[in-house]
Amino acid sequence: MAKICGSCGSQVDDSYTNCPNCGALLAQPQPTQPPVQPQQPAGYGQMPQPPMGQPYGYQDPNLKSKMVAGLLGIFLGGWGIHNFYLGYTSKGAIQIVVSIVTCGIGSIWGFIEGIMILCGSIKTDAQGRPLKD
Ligand SMILES: [Zn+2]
Repeated sequence: MAKICGSCGSQVDDSYTNCPNCGALLAQPQPTQPPVQPQQPAGYGQMPQPPMGQPYGYQDPNLKSKMVAGLLGIFLGGWGIHNFYLGYTSKGAIQIVVSIVTCGIGSIWGFIEGIMILCGSIKTDAQGRPLKD
């Protein structure tokens, strides 16, 4: 690649810094540097928004129903269905075993728990969330 001398107009090899013809200083090719991007600190402008406050009276749609759990306990208590429903899976499993071992007599346990749920003696599910009416 050759440069053109700005003084005399002669073609000069790229390696010269001065024109060999007239001695004029040749313009250096501009180093091509990528434009410098302004440095942003990582995560700047990406702060997570604080969670929106739950509106007053908000009720978790995942709350378990006291009525459903209670009726499950009364009718299917021997199988621990109400405990599975509420998330007390290990207790429900034990209830099944107890019912089988006692030939069904142990299912009174689940029946009583169903009553306790309906009466409000058992108020929360396995996650400690209140049961909805
Ligand atoms: Zn020249």
